[in-house]
Amino acid sequence: MTANKHAWSDRKSFHNFTLPGEIARRSTIANSLGMGVFRLRITFHGATRRVTGSAHLLEVGSRRILLDCGLFDSDKNEVDGPNRSLTFDPRELDAVVVSHAHSDHIGRLPLLTRQGYRGPIFVTHATGDILSVMLRDSARIKREDARNASLLDPYAEPVEPLFDMYDVECVIDALVRRPYQEPIQILDDVTLTYHNAGHILGSAIVQLDVSESGGAPRRFVFTGDLGRRDMGLLPDPEIVRDIDFLVSESTYGGRTLVGYDTLLKQLSAIVARAIRLKGKIVIPAFSLGRTQRMVYCLQELFDVYKVRPIPVYVDSPLAYRLTEIHRAHKEAYTPAARRLMENDEAYFGSKYVEYCMSWDDSRRLNHLPGPMAIIASSGMCDAGRIRHHLRHVVEDPDNAIVIVSYQAEGTLGRKIAEGAEQLRILDQDLDLNAAVYVLDGFSGHADKDDLAWWYEQTGGGYDRAFIVHGEPESMEALAPVLQSHSKNPVVVPELLSTYEL
Ligand SMILES: [Zn+2]
Ligand SMILES: [Zn+2]
Repeated sequence: MTANKHAWSDRKSFHNFTLPGEIARRSTIANSLGMGVFRLRITFHGATRRVTGSAHLLEVGSRRILLDCGLFDSDKNEVDGPNRSLTFDPRELDAVVVSHAHSDHIGRLPLLTRQGYRGPIFVTHATGDILSVMLRDSARIKREDARNASLLDPYAEPVEPLFDMYDVECVIDALVRRPYQEPIQILDDVTLTYHNAGHILGSAIVQLDVSESGGAPRRFVFTGDLGRRDMGLLPDPEIVRDIDFLVSESTYGGRTLVGYDTLLKQLSAIVARAIRLKGKIVIPAFSLGRTQRMVYCLQELFDVYKVRPIPVYVDSPLAYRLTEIHRAHKEAYTPAARRLMENDEAYFGSKYVEYCMSWDDSRRLNHLPGPMAIIASSGMCDAGRIRHHLRHVVEDPDNAIVIVSYQAEGTLGRKIAEGAEQLRILDQDLDLNAAVYVLDGFSGHADKDDLAWWYEQTGGGYDRAFIVHGEPESMEALAPVLQSHSKNPVVVPELLSTYEL
């Protein structure tokens, strides 16, 4: 394997892709040894019967391709617990293919470079831009987490950060940026094509075509995270046909979410209430994706549906940096969204929207009168500036909290969504009197109907189909839907289980 790594060391050559001689030679040796070079095999290293930790290892003969390398949710009491060790040897990988830049898909990439991976990491153009911001931010947080954990017990060994900035820079150096719909040969018998998944900016469905000389090509498809249909800003997920092997996400595989028109009506009623009561609307939102979607929806309400505008504050420097990337990828949006944003002063930033960068900007909002909307992170309210906005608004019934994304069990966001009477925020016990609205239709994930539609459009007829990236109930609900498109029983794999394809 070591000789092979040198073949990849000149990263500039990835753009004009040439087959490294070392890999071709290794295939031939493996073939002559009767090792079944074109054996296709998959092992699931994460996102099995849970949402996080996406990482699937595809073996094509003796070559190894890792699909995603995401973070697992970890217990707060155990710094980075399940993320500390990889369940494969990164030095034995030949290529890494990333579906999109959410941390549950990219968060452990720096562990690969830290532990010796020197090959290419394939991404779409926008994913490359977002990933660089997200992982640098993550390295800073990991350093602080480790420092804080070390302070808890001054006599214990200092806690090492999960990875550092150097590991992240190695990841960024290894990126090979690809457009959608343009096949590229990534190994001698493997071609990669990205299709727009419509989930977040840059998100992709991964298509790998494996062609044995003389034999029929076989098509492996990994959905990554699929977006919803008809959501205004991003286009519907693209369709891939003639799939032999499918690995499908299932986050909302057991639910039917309300449509975009209904969501806009609900949001419009919440804005009208804030105007009437001079209240504040606080929207906890992830800096990546959900923040930009909510800004766009409010812009649409004001400009297209002529709802009386209120000031909108986006209180997150990270969200601002990510919004800059969203502005640089105008080609990514639906024609209707482009028209709307071009007519306004700027993409994701109009006369109604202000981005708060400093703590002073953020604190100023507490003293401004309503009506207004504040969008801040973290999306589940466990960290970040959202907590101090919540502390200021929860006790006043004229205010509203709008939940627009999934809230994991045990988080402050979950308690709010479930209507707890009392909340503990930043060491203060507060009564929850503000109105709470749960609009989970704003999710970036396909629901059961969207997934059924996508399978139908692909033409079905899969040889094998696997369900990942969901809670067990969602997987169970989705399995019969997927089964009607699969020739063999649908598999819900266990962690570290391997299947011959
Ligand atoms: Zn995602
Ligand atoms: Zn995901």
